[in-house]
Amino acid sequence: MTRRLPVYLLLDCSESMLGKPLEDTEAGLKNMISALKRDPRAIETVHLSVIAFDTRARVLIPLTEIAMVRPPSLQAHPGTALGEALNLLRVSIVKDVKKTDAVSKGDFRPLVFILTDGRPTDEWEEAAALLRNVEPRIASVYAVGCGDEADFSIMRKITPNCVHLKKLSASSIAELFVWLSASVRAGSTGAGQDFRVGLEKLPRGGTLAPAEGANLPAAASKPRLFFHVLCRERKKYYMLTYKYRPERKIYLPEEPLPLPEGFFSEGAAPEGPEADVSRMWGLPPCPFCGAAALGRCPGCGTLFCLGEEMKECACPGCGAGLSLSPGAPSSFRGSPG
Ligand SMILES: [Zn+2]
Ligand SMILES: [Zn+2]
Repeated sequence: MTRRLPVYLLLDCSESMLGKPLEDTEAGLKNMISALKRDPRAIETVHLSVIAFDTRARVLIPLTEIAMVRPPSLQAHPGTALGEALNLLRVSIVKDVKKTDAVSKGDFRPLVFILTDGRPTDEWEEAAALLRNVEPRIASVYAVGCGDEADFSIMRKITPNCVHLKKLSASSIAELFVWLSASVRAGSTGAGQDFRVGLEKLPRGGTLAPAEGANLPAAASKPRLFFHVLCRERKKYYMLTYKYRPERKIYLPEEPLPLPEGFFSEGAAPEGPEADVSRMWGLPPCPFCGAAALGRCPGCGTLFCLGEEMKECACPGCGAGLSLSPGAPSSFRGSPG
C-alpha cells in the first residue's frame, strides 16, 4: 500500500475575511484541489483535511483522499478560535495518521498550513505549545499570516515556519494557493518523512515572502475594530469596521458590509473590548436604510442604526423603550477580530 501524505489546511473564517477575501479563498482552495487531482503522484498519496475556525473550530472535510475531495463552501462567523482549531488539529492527527510499526510503514509526516489574518479570541497558547514543543514532531507546520495586520509574534509560538502574504487581494490569494499546491505536490513526490517546504525559495519582497519581524502596524494592539449593527428598519445586521491608521493614530471607518444569513449561527456576537470612540472618526450611514446615527441599548447592548432626529424608539434587540441622545453613543462594545 502506498504511504499517504496527510495535508491539513486550517482556515481563518473570522469577520476580517468576510466578503471578497473569503470568496477568493474559496476559489483558491477549489483550484488547489483540482490541481492536486490532476497530478499523478499527488493523487496516489495526498489526503486532505480542511478545518475552519471562527466562533468555533470545525472540521469541514475530514481526512479524505484527494480524488474524493469536494471543494467546501466557506462562511464567515464572528471570532477567531485559533486555540480550538489547534486542539482539533492535534486530535485529528492522532486519530487519522497511521504510525509506522513492525509490520508496516505508516503515513508520511503530515503537512499543516494555517492561514490567518487576525488575532485569536480564545485561549491559544497552551494549544500552540502542545503542537510546537512535542517531540517527535507530529506534523510539519507552516503558518501563513495574511494581510498587513498579521501578528507573527503569535504565529511564531505555533511554528518557526512563518510566511507573510502581504495583501488580501484576489491575485495574491490565488498566488498563495498556487504555492500551497506546489508545496503539497513537492511533498508527494516521495520526499519522505523529512520533507520540508522550502520557505527560503520564496522571493524576498514578493507578495508571498518569509515572515520577518512582527509585521504589526506600529502602536496598534487592535488594528481593526468590528461592530455588529442591527438595522431598525430592516431587522438585519451589518458589520461596521474601523481600521487603525498609524500615521494619524486614529481609526477610520471602512465600507459597511451586510452580514450574511447565519453569521451568528453559533449564538450571539462575542462581546469585545470597549471601543475608544474619541479615536474613531466618522460614521458611515446604515447600508440598508441610510440612517446616519447609531444607538446602543443599555439593557441588551445591541447597537442599532438610528435617524439623527430620533428621540425615542424601541430597541430592535430586546424591545425595551429607549429615550435617546442623538449621535454616536459615547461608548459601545465591539469584537476584536
Ligand atoms: Zn438601517
Ligand atoms: Zn435592547
